[in-house]
Amino acid sequence: MSKVYNWQLGREMEYPHDAAYPQEQFAFVFNLNRCIGCQTCTMACKSTWTFSKGQEHMWWNNVETKPYGGYPHHWDVKLLDLLEKANPEGQIWDAGGKKDVRKPYGTFEGQTIFEAAKKSFQANGSNPALGYLPTDEEWSAPNIFEDSPRGPKGVKGQVTHTDGVDLPEHKTWFFYLARICNHCSYPACLAACPRNAIYKRPEDGIVLIDQERCRGYRKCVEACPYKKSIYRPTTRTSEKCIACYPRVEGKDPDSHGQPMETRCMAACIGQIRMQGLVRLAADGTWAADRYNPLYYLIHVAKVALPLYPQFGTEPNGFYIPPRWVNRGYLKQMFGPGVDAAIEKYMAPDRELLAVLNLFRKTDQIIFKYEIKEGPKVFENEIRGKKFEMFNDTIIGYGRNGQELVRTTVEEPLHERPSQHANSI
Ligand code: SF4
Ligand code: SF4
Repeated sequence: MSKVYNWQLGREMEYPHDAAYPQEQFAFVFNLNRCIGCQTCTMACKSTWTFSKGQEHMWWNNVETKPYGGYPHHWDVKLLDLLEKANPEGQIWDAGGKKDVRKPYGTFEGQTIFEAAKKSFQANGSNPALGYLPTDEEWSAPNIFEDSPRGPKGVKGQVTHTDGVDLPEHKTWFFYLARICNHCSYPACLAACPRNAIYKRPEDGIVLIDQERCRGYRKCVEACPYKKSIYRPTTRTSEKCIACYPRVEGKDPDSHGQPMETRCMAACIGQIRMQGLVRLAADGTWAADRYNPLYYLIHVAKVALPLYPQFGTEPNGFYIPPRWVNRGYLKQMFGPGVDAAIEKYMAPDRELLAVLNLFRKTDQIIFKYEIKEGPKVFENEIRGKKFEMFNDTIIGYGRNGQELVRTTVEEPLHERPSQHANSI
């Protein structure tokens, strides 16, 4: 085991390989307040990559209804339970010191999946990450418990839907959790592969399985805490999300040579998704890039948080938590940054409001944004605090500084000419 620095945990941790970081890292932000569970992302991915024989159960992108849904069933609850058994009552955070850029959520004092498996790994060479192999049944019914809420029980044990409308937190709640592979900085799938078939690309940090080398031992399926590596019986190999790498490379016919976002991002009806490439510093932390929209959302505004950072793989998927959901549940899922993220999101300042308007305004990757100030158009009070809205213009730029998109905080009004393509 080597020592590597995990900024999401605010400390060094053990990992089976030496630290090695890509020049840029594939990353994304999903705003869970906006997901409508339409599954358009899921079908965009399915119809692009996993429509063949043996891939029927393969949903590289899935959207599950939390708290009960999950694909494979109960993937997160099962792993949380294993970790709790390995380290009873020790899976806790010291949420102090959050101002330090190397520990934005404080310090995780519990054990990661690598640390919890260390003893057995050293003793008998078993998997270097704590995990489990889901059953065939758990790989069925990908949208199980769709729209099932958590809440107080009423007549006949049914959840009452009329209770708990107090904002910001509802007593009856559910939310849609959209998920893809997190192209982790310390991938458990890669660490577990006895064939060295899994690699992380040095140019963009995308994690891929070499189909020629893979022998289908399923060690990656067992080790991935997010269960995003999936076995295919017809080829006897494992497969996983490839981050639509031809699009990220600018090789899609529509891309004109410029990096494009993945299919699931581009298809998102709720406009919850933004994907990008971020620069890394020598120690694997994010290099300061103040006007990169992902850097801003994650490291400046701190409204977007990693999914189960305590697992220790340093996932590169970040989520703006849903504001109406039980806070204890959210803190277990996204760590100690939840309260501050929701406070900030509920009463966004001028810059945040503008950046949120960049979501899904272009399919090309935005590397930088600029805001041009506009007039004040609205004033209100949100939970006792003054809220002002300005009709600022936000401009998104591509890798070479070319303008990709220009939009305003107030939705622009487009007047169609009386004669247009669809006129009768
Ligand atoms: S989410 Fe799972 S499959 Fe994806 S890189 Fe991380 S460990 Fe590997
Ligand atoms: S397309 Fe967007 S809104 Fe629809 S389910 Fe997927 S993430 Fe949610």
